[in-house]
Amino acid sequence: MPITDSTKKQIAQQRRLFFKICFNCGAKNPIGGTRCRKCRGSQMRLKNRTLGAKK
Ligand SMILES: [Zn+2]
Repeated sequence: MPITDSTKKQIAQQRRLFFKICFNCGAKNPIGGTRCRKCRGSQMRLKNRTLGAKK
């Protein structure tokens, strides 16, 4: 079902794209976090993509 509401679509895209991936365990972490919530590692890469990019 396509999302027609542009605001909801924007939120959904941000939820899907704006997070950090832990280098150690690959866990998804919040964008504002500095440490992995799973293994407490501090090495995390940013998963930031341009909006609108279709997977
Ligand atoms: Zn981790």
